[in-house]
Amino acid sequence: MKPILFNFNDAELAAFVTNMGLPKFRAAQIREWLRRGAPDFGAMKNLPAELRRDLDATARTLPVRILRRLDSTDGETTKFLLELNDGEQIECVLMRTTYGNSVCVSSQAGCAMGCKFCASTLLGLKRNLSASEIMAQVLVAQWELRRTRTDKTDVRPNGDPNNGDVSHIVIMGTGEPLQNTENVIDFIERANRDLGIGWRRITVSTCGIVPGIRRLIEWGRPINLAISLHAPTDELRGQIMPINNKYPLADVLAAADEFTALHNRQLMIEYILLGRKNSDGETELFNATPQHAEMLSRLLAGKNCMVNLIPWNAVDERDFASPSGNAVHRFQDILIKNGIHTRIRRERGTDIGSACGQLRLNNAKNKGNKK
Ligand code: SF4
Repeated sequence: MKPILFNFNDAELAAFVTNMGLPKFRAAQIREWLRRGAPDFGAMKNLPAELRRDLDATARTLPVRILRRLDSTDGETTKFLLELNDGEQIECVLMRTTYGNSVCVSSQAGCAMGCKFCASTLLGLKRNLSASEIMAQVLVAQWELRRTRTDKTDVRPNGDPNNGDVSHIVIMGTGEPLQNTENVIDFIERANRDLGIGWRRITVSTCGIVPGIRRLIEWGRPINLAISLHAPTDELRGQIMPINNKYPLADVLAAADEFTALHNRQLMIEYILLGRKNSDGETELFNATPQHAEMLSRLLAGKNCMVNLIPWNAVDERDFASPSGNAVHRFQDILIKNGIHTRIRRERGTDIGSACGQLRLNNAKNKGNKK
């Protein structure tokens, strides 16, 4: 396997350059391109063409390589299927929004959590991602933003939500971040330090790993926490999220309350609205009836939280159906009537398989079909 220069510290990069018989200043030039997320050596325009070819034969720039890039017709969403150095595949999504540019990154190749509505877990967990592999996803998105930006003269500082670079990060792609907590923490520290992305613009989304939430409390950074709730009772949640049998709702919400109280942050609650087809082919609501909305209201009463309602994004292999628009709005109305802050998550990139893990799964199936 070729070495990955992004993973080298300064001394290692200097030694690599010296071993190639190059002057020392080349290390600083290469480092600057790596910092910007250059996907290959061909992009390093201030290096001689022959050197770029030599480097290409010897090493790789980032620990990820773009296999596919899909631009949604919504003009705002770009999804990347990326290959890691060992051949595993992950996804990340760039979303251009009115409040800045947000990138949703994966924290694991696959997932062991087994949520019944999710494509990411269908192939099981392959492995944890390193902090560098998570960081490289942000740099891929950043490179894309700069490549497609029309105003090339804009040099406002890192972290400015209006400077055209990545301004927000959500760790909500494939994998459970709190099953890979130390690498995720390392990544967040680097994103804050190297890219200037503020703590409050970084969100960790968990299915409810209580020891992981406690580790975030101990770590002490005022990031955002999102809990994938998806059901208002242990009985219902246990049917679709096996993790609930280990960490029931009361324990998860108690740990989340502690986190949000410490940082005076609003807790994000993710709630996928699911239906199921009955034998007559009609959609019955699974967790999205008015009764469920009332139960959810009681569960969250008095909490400083925002509920993101997410109409289910179809995954062929999963036995669910999307609820009607009426059902979604009725659910939201009940929460609002009960004083719960709620919004319906706008569907993005439905034309490019925006359901988490869908692109990776489809690619694996195609590979399998070709065998
Ligand atoms: S929803 Fe998240 S935690 Fe659950 S299986 Fe999918 S990636 Fe894993």
